[in-house]
Parts: sequence; C-alpha cells; structure tokens
Amino acid sequence: MSPAEWYRLSDAGCGVVRITEPFVDPYYSANLYFLRGRERDLLVDAGMGIHPLRPVLPLTEGKPVLALATHIHIDHVGALHEFADRAGPAVEAALFETMPDGATYAEEYRHRPTPVTQLPWPGFDIASYRLTPAPLTMPLKEGDRLDLGDRSFAVLELPGHSPCIALFDEINGILFAGDAIYDDQLLDDMPCSDKDAYRATMRRLIGEVDPRIVFGGHGEPFDGERMRQIARHYLEHGSGL
Ligand SMILES: [Zn+2]
Repeated sequence: MSPAEWYRLSDAGCGVVRITEPFVDPYYSANLYFLRGRERDLLVDAGMGIHPLRPVLPLTEGKPVLALATHIHIDHVGALHEFADRAGPAVEAALFETMPDGATYAEEYRHRPTPVTQLPWPGFDIASYRLTPAPLTMPLKEGDRLDLGDRSFAVLELPGHSPCIALFDEINGILFAGDAIYDDQLLDDMPCSDKDAYRATMRRLIGEVDPRIVFGGHGEPFDGERMRQIARHYLEHGSGL
C-alpha cells in the first residue's frame, strides 16, 4: 500500500483538509488537518507515522509549512519529524526530544490485538514500530499566537486529557481542539490525565470559547452548541457522551 492509499483526505470545509488513517486501530486513528495560509501552511497533528505523511499533503513548492502537535500522544506525533518547523506544547517540549514510550503510549499501541486492520506493506511488523523524536522548534503556550499571514490563531492550553494545546481562530470561529474535546468517548484516565484540570477546561470552553466549528482530534467536526453539550455532559457525568 502506498502513502496515498494509507491516508484518506477529505474537504472538511472552511478551507480545511481532513486527513485520517482508516487502517489504524479505530481507538488510535486520529484526525489530522491541513490548511493553507498566505505566508505559510499549517498541519495540525501528524498521525501515527507508519507511512510518510508529507508526500500526500497538498504542499506548495518552496512555501513554508508549520507542523503542530496538539500533544505528544502517538496518534498525533508520528510524522512530525518529517517537517523542519515543529510546534507543540511548551510544557511537553523536553519529551518531544526523545518521544519516550511512557509519554506517547507507543508500547500500549504495539500490544493492541489489531494495531492495523490492513498491512501498510507486506511483512509489516508492529514489534519494530518506533516513533522518531521530533524536537519542537516552536514551543507554544497560552497567550501565544500563530500567524499564517491571512489568518491567525490564539494558542489555548486545554489540559485534562493530557497537557493539550488548541488553536482558536476567533475571526472565522474555527477551533482545532486536539484531544481536549471531540465528539466521541473522552479519555481522562491515563497517567498524563488530570480530571480536575479537565473540568476547568470544560468550564472554560463553555464560558470563554465560542467557535462556529470544532475540528477535534477524533470523530467528526461539530458546532459550538455541540461542544457545550459535550462539555456539560463531562461536568455532570465525568465522561464524554
Ligand atoms: Zn491523546
């Protein structure tokens, strides 16, 4: 299977290309997003890194592209090393230098019963699957801004699932939420999780962030009202919908 067959690209609206890995264990298969800016393009999250990602992106020769990881989990950082400009949460910057299994959960992935539903190439051996370290060239924290030339994003720290960052384009109402919030079962019971912080994140999303559309790390895009529903459900029931 070629990289073009491994990844699935679709138009998610708002100039956003959604990229998925349909043959990865559904528990791990995440959303990646690509969008063009006037000065530089942006990739949000970098998948498992099983097949090279760069060749399938609609890149423009000579134009810079910034690859951003919302957090260090395996399904978001695999292909980050393919890009020269790498952004991610400053609080996890030291971990991106080595990508230890304890932070990425790569070891758990290697032991899944069905890590891939189709082989990426004949003879693929999950035991030899490793993440390549990708030190951050642009560590980001709350209050920073990312400017693509014709649109810009506020960097939000939304901890809980893990020390996640999110990007919010207030003008166009677009939120790239990573795994802070998405329309599926939310995870808050990993060693890197913090349930109290997650509750604060949910309260903040309800009270302070008013997106028109949310592109989450997993599942389908959803609107601001749905985001508030999911957040309220978490606060009331201690889990996602
Ligand atoms: Zn995650």
